[in-house]
Amino acid sequence: MQRLARAIAQSPASAGLLFAHLVGIVQARRRLRRGALRLRRMSVNADPQELSKFSELAHRWWDEHGEFKPLHAINPLRLDWIDAIAPLRGCRVLDVGCGGGILAESMARRGAHVLGIDLASKPLKVAQLHALEVGVQNLEYREVSAEALASERAGPFDTVTCMEMLEHVPDPASVVHACAALARPGGRLFFSTIHRSAKAFVYAIVGAEHVLKLLPKGTHEYAKFIRPSELAHWCRDAGLEVLELKGMQYNPVTGRYWLSGDTSVNYLVACMKPQ
Ligand code: SAH
Repeated sequence: MQRLARAIAQSPASAGLLFAHLVGIVQARRRLRRGALRLRRMSVNADPQELSKFSELAHRWWDEHGEFKPLHAINPLRLDWIDAIAPLRGCRVLDVGCGGGILAESMARRGAHVLGIDLASKPLKVAQLHALEVGVQNLEYREVSAEALASERAGPFDTVTCMEMLEHVPDPASVVHACAALARPGGRLFFSTIHRSAKAFVYAIVGAEHVLKLLPKGTHEYAKFIRPSELAHWCRDAGLEVLELKGMQYNPVTGRYWLSGDTSVNYLVACMKPQ
């Protein structure tokens, strides 16, 4: 260090060179960091294995007694809950991760103008065909991610729904942020997912997939479950106000689902984007 100071004192030109060199290193590091951030933003936030899992089962989507029976069973419950908080008639609604369209189509039937998006192409085709078959109007589907739609500055939407999807993506917080960007100020957002709790492991994986066989084995991965506190944190971080947190319970004997205050397994969150 002393030798370096002496060299600089003897030759101011070399001090200038050293300074320029250091500035170059700092600038190169900044460029690298910016590049990595851009790449992360450009890369699609999706797990190809998850998407192909849903594509393989797409033809069964509207079979009320098949693999998607639980989605059919909970749909009236979540539909009424959404409609009570944000009346659907005449609203512009975006359904993120719409799959074969169970929720999207039911919201359109209640008079909303719905855009359903998903990254699995087969479920989307099934959704489109089903809408044609039953003649539901005000309903469109697109193969696009929430993040890409947000960067197109699509919307804004009065209501954004994203149900049973966050636990299937690598970066759920990014989806929450995109949903927030896609909602209009004053709009409502609805998310649902599964708690990362011991009880959820027993009920949602061991019980639903292995014992009762309500869902195909491997539908859910415990590590991808989300604690309500995590989801609420992502919502607030995206500038949303959390309005309501509800649990969804199931009685395997009667086959009945209902909403309650118990969020230890399945739960739903309603948010508002402030004006
Ligand atoms: N929301 C629907 C379907 C839930 S199944 C309902 O509740 O009825 C989960 C859906 O999320 C599947 O259709 C799957 O293809 C979709 N999905 C998974 N990762 C996704 C991603 N990154 N972007 C969009 N959709 C995704």
